[in-house]
Amino acid sequence: MEITSPILSTYRAAVSTGPPFPSLQIQQRTYKPTLRRVQSTVLLAQNEEEEETFLVLAPVAVGLCPTDLEVHRDPKRYGVSSPVILGHECVARVLEVRSGVKTKEKNTTERFHIGDIVVLSYPSCGKCAVCEVAPAYCASFPSLALSDPEAFMGQSAFSEQLCVPSRLCVVVERHQLQPASILAPLSCSFLTAIGCVWSTPSSPRRNALLNLEPNDCFAVIGCGTIGLTALLLAKYWIGLRDTSVCVAIDCDASVLQNVRDSWMNYDCKNATSLRLETFVCSDLKAYLKQLRALFMKYRINKCLDTTGDPHWIKAAIEWVVPGGHVVSCGVPKRGTDSMLSLPVSAMLLQGKKFSGTLEGDIVPSDAIRSILSGWTSAEGTLKYKMPRALSKHVATHGVLLWENIVSEFAAQRRTISRHGVPKLVFEQPDRFLIYRFQTLKQMSLAFEQGKGSAEAGNYEQFQTEVALLFSMAWPLHHVVPELLADWFGDSLSPHHSSHRMLRRIGWVGKNFISPEEVCPLMVREGTTKRRVISNFMGKATLAVQPLPVPLVPEKCVQYTAAMKYASHPIIDFFKKISDDVIMGVMTGKGVPHGFYFFLERIVPDNSQADSEVKKSKL
Ligand SMILES: [Zn+2]
Ligand SMILES: [Zn+2]
Repeated sequence: MEITSPILSTYRAAVSTGPPFPSLQIQQRTYKPTLRRVQSTVLLAQNEEEEETFLVLAPVAVGLCPTDLEVHRDPKRYGVSSPVILGHECVARVLEVRSGVKTKEKNTTERFHIGDIVVLSYPSCGKCAVCEVAPAYCASFPSLALSDPEAFMGQSAFSEQLCVPSRLCVVVERHQLQPASILAPLSCSFLTAIGCVWSTPSSPRRNALLNLEPNDCFAVIGCGTIGLTALLLAKYWIGLRDTSVCVAIDCDASVLQNVRDSWMNYDCKNATSLRLETFVCSDLKAYLKQLRALFMKYRINKCLDTTGDPHWIKAAIEWVVPGGHVVSCGVPKRGTDSMLSLPVSAMLLQGKKFSGTLEGDIVPSDAIRSILSGWTSAEGTLKYKMPRALSKHVATHGVLLWENIVSEFAAQRRTISRHGVPKLVFEQPDRFLIYRFQTLKQMSLAFEQGKGSAEAGNYEQFQTEVALLFSMAWPLHHVVPELLADWFGDSLSPHHSSHRMLRRIGWVGKNFISPEEVCPLMVREGTTKRRVISNFMGKATLAVQPLPVPLVPEKCVQYTAAMKYASHPIIDFFKKISDDVIMGVMTGKGVPHGFYFFLERIVPDNSQADSEVKKSKL
């Protein structure tokens, strides 16, 4: 069975028009397979021997980073020519793998396949002396990341389709999948936070940043996405000593409430005694005394500043204990004095350090791989709970992607000075999954009826494809609101014994009213099309559960929503194809392995229950 990809010949992109009146316009683009060849001539001049692979990608989720907004307002300040397509926090589906562009790329050991999910990172040449240590400071960064208005940060991800060099991409193994809105910020903001506080074992750096350890007392100034992520990591890394305290400072009380909630939600067992203090401070000068006292009281030795405000940075350097370290990853705001006067002799006599950092000084591909495997490892740690804690902080905009991008840019321009707005991630439908699902659904019907292509096709192979689609589908970290609906349902395993059983009872779907109130089997009443509740299998409940082996490899954890029967040792696991289509697999004692099915949301606008079941549009 051929895997085909729904590549678009024309696609939409959000184009930032730049000053004097920056606005976003949704423009149609024509996909030119040769486009990137032209763009890559910059590289071509330096590299002539080896081939570089390019990937055609469909972004599934793209985060909004403050840098996008800054560049949108003033592209010249960053050496970006406008109009420009922004967006650089992207997780995407591989639609095509294209090789043949000649460059002297180091042999990429990574292999890419159609249907893979990749997290994008920022570009670097990989050859200059700086690249070896911290590719964020690559000598060619301006030409690679800023000069091409259709490859901003190598990505320009506010688009329905991209073509990027494969070396920007890190494959997310299927058992490592998290909801797309959690993977996208790994491109930039999560990555920066992680780099600032944590030196990944696989990417030893000469100049580790805060490198949090059990003895540390840690403060964060500005608790937006980066600050919050750093605090959660701190909870994990330094949560071993009773005396340790983390301090979160922000100008906005609601942001700090958000931090406290996420902190509570991050159920990280070895940190039960670690305390979090929050401090609302809209004006540094007004609270100078209290803040100094706070730093003294908790003997803060490591401090992360995400504001880029020189006054805060200077104050933090003065307040940390001797030997303390202050790291800033914030871009100074426009119009502020970005010069900093340092207490040189105090720093000298007390051995204090200050570091600025882009992207946490991290080697992105190593770090992203390391984070992904940490998040899914069941061994000894509870790190895998972090994505679920972080997801509380992410606001996704799904259905109206393009309108949302435009309106958010308009709104954020007014609030750009405010730190700590929840992370905004724009999601778009996963065309690849939807397309594959529709194909397999038709084949399932053909296999059941034993006709057409199905007769020639091999059922085993068909089931392998169905299982593959389930593994590619998106896990659901929350039961609400994705699942609570009336669902039309049908089987994708027509030769399975459960299929025959469900046909006998006239199964037509499930109805999820609340996590506790679940109708696992909706059946057709007699010969009518009316949907009624069947008590054949008794009651059930919904909860988020780890997928069992062999749906994930041994010692790996992948959470997704599941339905548990009260009186049978059977669990149905669900994953997402689109907002309106869920794929499920039935597991449990006495159930032969591999019964797959799908659920399609019933649009409630036609409430006549006995009219033909109305299925949602994909
Ligand atoms: Zn960014
Ligand atoms: Zn370089």
